[in-house]
Amino acid sequence: MEATQTGAPALQLTDEATRALGYRIVDLLIDHHRALRDKPVTNVLDWETSRARLGEPFAEEGVPPEQVLDKLESDVFSTIMHVTHPRFFAFVPGPGNLVSAFADALASGYNVFAGTWMEGSGPAAVELATIDWLRQVCGLPEGAMGLFVSGGSVANLTALAAARHARLGDDFRSGVAYFSDQTHSAVERAFRILGFSPSQLRKVPSDERYRLPLAALHRQVAADRRGGLTPFCVVANAGTTNTGAVDPLAELARFCQAEGLWLHADGAYGAAAALAPRGRALLEGLEQVDSLALDPHKWLFQPFEIGCVLARRGDDLKDTFRILPEYLQDVHRWKAINFCDYGIQLTRGFRALKLWMSVRIFGVRAFREAIERGFALAEYAESRLRRDPVWEIVSPAQFGIVCFRYVPPRAGESDLNAVNLRLAELGFRDGFAALTTTVLGGRTVLRLCAINPHATEDDLDRTLARLKWLAERNPTPDPFPTL
Ligand SMILES: *Cc1c(COP(=O)(O)O)cnc(C)c1O
Repeated sequence: MEATQTGAPALQLTDEATRALGYRIVDLLIDHHRALRDKPVTNVLDWETSRARLGEPFAEEGVPPEQVLDKLESDVFSTIMHVTHPRFFAFVPGPGNLVSAFADALASGYNVFAGTWMEGSGPAAVELATIDWLRQVCGLPEGAMGLFVSGGSVANLTALAAARHARLGDDFRSGVAYFSDQTHSAVERAFRILGFSPSQLRKVPSDERYRLPLAALHRQVAADRRGGLTPFCVVANAGTTNTGAVDPLAELARFCQAEGLWLHADGAYGAAAALAPRGRALLEGLEQVDSLALDPHKWLFQPFEIGCVLARRGDDLKDTFRILPEYLQDVHRWKAINFCDYGIQLTRGFRALKLWMSVRIFGVRAFREAIERGFALAEYAESRLRRDPVWEIVSPAQFGIVCFRYVPPRAGESDLNAVNLRLAELGFRDGFAALTTTVLGGRTVLRLCAINPHATEDDLDRTLARLKWLAERNPTPDPFPTL
């Protein structure tokens, strides 16, 4: 133990105080989750109050850990929207699990460096095994390779960097990429970061089921070729964020193969559903993609952050990212996998551990059943909504997502967008449950994403009843003050 001049250890509490802090954190997390169903889902503090409570300057002298934890409990963790809450149906729920949270603490406590084999051979083997499991779940062949990253955004960026490198090399000025208007903004942002201009991106209008239409894609690719451009990549959705729609992966794979295009699937939301038989069937063709993104921090119930990128030919990642500087020459003497050669980060945390540990402890079946529950809960919500004419289904339950809107008697189409936007806001302020809105074909809809396996049919019944009650109490769409 390093001692400072005064004899006190640097940046350490006593063993006793460290233990007490650790135990208190464990208790806090367990108690929080036990009581969660009875807490409001939404909690937002305004800017001034938050800043006033938390903006105080750092002091020269430390304070007891309990005091800091109390502060965190009262002013920080009480002001988050609880994405683990069973009635959080907004955006994409993040149910998480405490085994994985503790795995994060372990990875952090050992401060595992997961960038090179030399600094972490066991961790690299764990990551390889976990990546290989996901490879098999998605049906990619042996020889495919991947790694864990922060999330879907970086997974897409990593894969598309490989696509650019493999198909266009260093001069990519004439390259063109294709995706539907339902594609996540992370994809467009990835292309932007990679140096593509908007004129090199073709956002194809989706069909009536929110999928990438093949005929329009064929026409656009042909037109671009005639114009002297170089089509190089199609990004398909393996479960859109809006509606859970899946682009026709098998047909796209056939087309991309014939045309020499790289096929990337953004499965950040949906690809994990391949673990369940229904998801696997709906994702037919996923096994043929050149690369894909998958977010274990969404439908594999991991705490943030963990995303995964897989490439059909592992060497495509290595050719894109590998650089051998002299200060890493010792590292590269090992005949092994160095994850720093396959992606953006050199220093990387041991993200694989939480997925590995939770799958080991709960077993694959528990994960499969938890995923199946998401399909079933969204279908249950749809069936309830269909029973009451104040609700209109806009996109039926698909991959755990159902989109609908409130259509009060005698309401005109022109009012409905404002009515539904307001209803979501009323629900948000009410805090009993959380749903968010999106826009489908110009219509503002309520979107319910039901992938939290702790949600019950009763949670859904009460959420829909509460929404209706809120809607009927507030039938007129007034302008709403901003939060
Ligand atoms: C969530 C999501 C992303 C972005 O992933 P992050 O983990 O938030 O970085 C990309 N694509 C889709 C389809 C998503 O649902």
